[in-house]
Amino acid sequence: MISTPSFIDLHTHTRYPDNDNFQYREIEKAAKYGGYSDILAMANSEIIIDSIENLSVAKEIDKKLNLKIHRVAALSKNLNGNELVNYKEFADKGIRIFSDDGKSLINDELADLAFKTLAKLDCGIFQHCELNCHSNPGDIAPPKLNNELIEIYEEEELKILERDLKLVEKYKTRYHAQHISTKKSLDMISRAKKLGLPVTTEVSPHHLLLSNENITFTDGTYKMYPPIRSESDRNALVQGLKDGVIDVIATDHAPHPKESKNINFKQAARGVVGLESTFPVLFSSGLFSLDELITFLHINPKKILKQLGYRVAKTNKISWSITETSFTTKTSYKNSTFENTKVLIRKELFNV
Ligand SMILES: [Zn+2]
Repeated sequence: MISTPSFIDLHTHTRYPDNDNFQYREIEKAAKYGGYSDILAMANSEIIIDSIENLSVAKEIDKKLNLKIHRVAALSKNLNGNELVNYKEFADKGIRIFSDDGKSLINDELADLAFKTLAKLDCGIFQHCELNCHSNPGDIAPPKLNNELIEIYEEEELKILERDLKLVEKYKTRYHAQHISTKKSLDMISRAKKLGLPVTTEVSPHHLLLSNENITFTDGTYKMYPPIRSESDRNALVQGLKDGVIDVIATDHAPHPKESKNINFKQAARGVVGLESTFPVLFSSGLFSLDELITFLHINPKKILKQLGYRVAKTNKISWSITETSFTTKTSYKNSTFENTKVLIRKELFNV
């Protein structure tokens, strides 16, 4: 038996508030099964958090759940990158993190204004870096498998990240690069940190454990943004955590009904679930010590939220039994890249 503090996820898609398509209790259950006490909910719910009214609808549901849910507001109205939301209004309500996650804020002029305004308000930008997200979103990392699929080159991530880091240098805006996937992103973040800029970053479990050399794209399970890249990127990301360049492992938990995932790759929705599997698969991989995992899943995410003015939940002790078993998702949304993977650990059920 081992124990850990409860975890804090900086990247969850709650899906709600929605139009009654999503069972919101499934988020609470997935978090509990995975050992999480806190989640940071992205703004791209079915009802987008781009107005105070929508924020209130979200918070009404949050209150019903036995889970601490921290809220993010959108950077732009309807996440379409054409009009900024009223940041001051949200900051006055205690929302200190802004993100269009699922999309990037592409327009350079608007990005400049957003970074400038949010620096003055002492708020942070969490950016999903994807240059073609509005114009021509891709499917897969090179090399592509067939003519139908659009390649997602690493430049999509690097170009937005490079521009953003210049804006951070200009305005000293608190910045967090979401789910980085390439060695070159890591190098840029490392340089920014050496300059003393207020920058942090995260990586998702699937980018640490899988590469596009060892997966078969027979169905949509492996479709996500950013895509799973090369073995050398994967190794660099693992090392990036150990070197302290990457601060946090965040799940990018994105539940999808099976109708939109168990289909061919081109048509499949992007995203995988991760709250339930993250600790079991990472612990079992042997890539990190228990202390390292506690740093990436509890200590560092807590530090980031607290620095930005969020009040985190009281830490619980989570017990895990050392048992060789096969990981299976217990909640309804089972689009996990780790379904049926052999793991060495299981959460003690009395904590659920
Ligand atoms: Zn994203």
